[in-house]
Amino acid sequence: MYQLFVEEHFDAAHYLPEYNGKCERLHGHRFKVVLRVEAESVGSDGMAYDFAEMKRLLRELLSQVDHTCLNELGPFSAKAPSSENIAAWLYRELQPLFEDTPVRLASVEVWESPTAGVSYSP
Ligand SMILES: [Zn+2]
Repeated sequence: MYQLFVEEHFDAAHYLPEYNGKCERLHGHRFKVVLRVEAESVGSDGMAYDFAEMKRLLRELLSQVDHTCLNELGPFSAKAPSSENIAAWLYRELQPLFEDTPVRLASVEVWESPTAGVSYSP
């Protein structure tokens, strides 16, 4: 099994209304996002999938949340924009994009600081 991964980032503000601490106040992060796909085999070119295509799909999706206040966006109107919920939302949006490809989406990581993050797979 091969796992291929690419990394991108977006900048956004959020607050966690039910958190009892400083994260309940509006603040920002540079969120790092790692997209991982799995492949059973590689093609005759020696590659399982195109990193450039993975990055394109991820960048296109992240452009919807870059430089926003996440709490104001539809996906996070009912669910707090925690890293957990951001990762699950990104997974749900990305999964169909890989349905007709030789790879399948394995997981999405969202890092909200250089030392703390979440990995989501259903
Ligand atoms: Zn935060």
